[in-house]
Amino acid sequence: MAYAKRTEALEPEGAYQVLARAQLLEAEGREIIHFEVGQPDFDTFANISLAGIRAIAAGKTRYTSPVGIPELREAIAVEAGKQRDITIYPDQVVVSPGAKPILFFPILALIEAGDEVVYPDPGFPSYRAIIDVAEGVPVPVRLSEDKKISFDLEALDQLVNDRTKVIIINSPSNPTGGVLAKAELEHIAEIAKKHDCWLLSDEIYSRTVYEGMGAPSIAAIPGMSERTVIVDGFSKTYAMTGWRLGFGIMPKGLARRVELLLTHSIGCTAHFTQLAGLEALQGPQEQTRQAVALYQRKRDLMVAGLNDIPGIMCQKPQGAFYVFPNIKSYGRSSEEIANWLLDQAGVAVLPGSSFGRYGEGYLRLSYATSMKLILEGLERLRSFFERLPRSKML
Ligand code: PLP
Repeated sequence: MAYAKRTEALEPEGAYQVLARAQLLEAEGREIIHFEVGQPDFDTFANISLAGIRAIAAGKTRYTSPVGIPELREAIAVEAGKQRDITIYPDQVVVSPGAKPILFFPILALIEAGDEVVYPDPGFPSYRAIIDVAEGVPVPVRLSEDKKISFDLEALDQLVNDRTKVIIINSPSNPTGGVLAKAELEHIAEIAKKHDCWLLSDEIYSRTVYEGMGAPSIAAIPGMSERTVIVDGFSKTYAMTGWRLGFGIMPKGLARRVELLLTHSIGCTAHFTQLAGLEALQGPQEQTRQAVALYQRKRDLMVAGLNDIPGIMCQKPQGAFYVFPNIKSYGRSSEEIANWLLDQAGVAVLPGSSFGRYGEGYLRLSYATSMKLILEGLERLRSFFERLPRSKML
């Protein structure tokens, strides 16, 4: 029996694959240090969990509107607008189970088969997967290490043309932690306007930014809100990865199309999850601020520890909770090194190549774990790399 072509090119997500292998080793009694999973290591804040539990006890367990309950849409419009200094109307807000549907459905609603979609490489693997399923033409833009592993704007200029329908950006970035500055966003906005493209701006890490910096949103640039889809959610900011709660902000016409896609696919987001999200937005924000301050210290420890290992070069990213060290001097593929690290040193990391071909020669490590495990993991990395012979550059 044949399957449809549209799922032929799909590949599993590296993080889930490495996690599964690491768990197999743990089942055999090995002690593994997890730098592969991209989620906070602490539990959902208690006030948020309690709001969810109370909502279940109160019977908030039925269908809701496919785009979310009005109170949550209103709260998101207010808070997301305040954060970005823009006006957002509640009917521009689409609530979804996690941020991923807000990557998937706007792309399905926007592109015809054969339209080009420009996306960051290395980048979050779902971008490429969704473009493939939607039968778009994937056009990777390399993130350049010289640009602090952020968008290479000259490369972008070359790649966007009148066949480009959507440009995907992600700041702060997974996997590099790079943050796009306002001037860079202005440049991207100009290109988008010139070629009449949509912008899908994945801002899921926008609250995880260091040194008191904010991550500017391209939607705040004049003339951009009518062609931008902001992707955001609760998973990373409030340690709610398993609750499945995300949202999108987009022009009303597109929101109506996305609503229909949600209606006929997932139906709606769990009511009690939405009420937990409402508490997350309206409750105290201090715990989130403390978590970001702690991530910053963990980032500093991780970056210093990695740069101390001969042959590794690691930039200091300004956001998210990832580092993306360059391991090219070892002359091995990042997949080979990641596999050896797991088997021989008991350290789970992701190969840069699982984020696209320009990720080859790098590893992605998440430092959303304890200081103690970061120190132990760095020790193991050091002794592994000290024994690994260095050969010529890839
Ligand atoms: N976008 C980026 C860049 C991510 O790193 C992730 C999760 O790792 C997502 C979107 C998906 O988020 P969610 O788990 O809320 O669907």
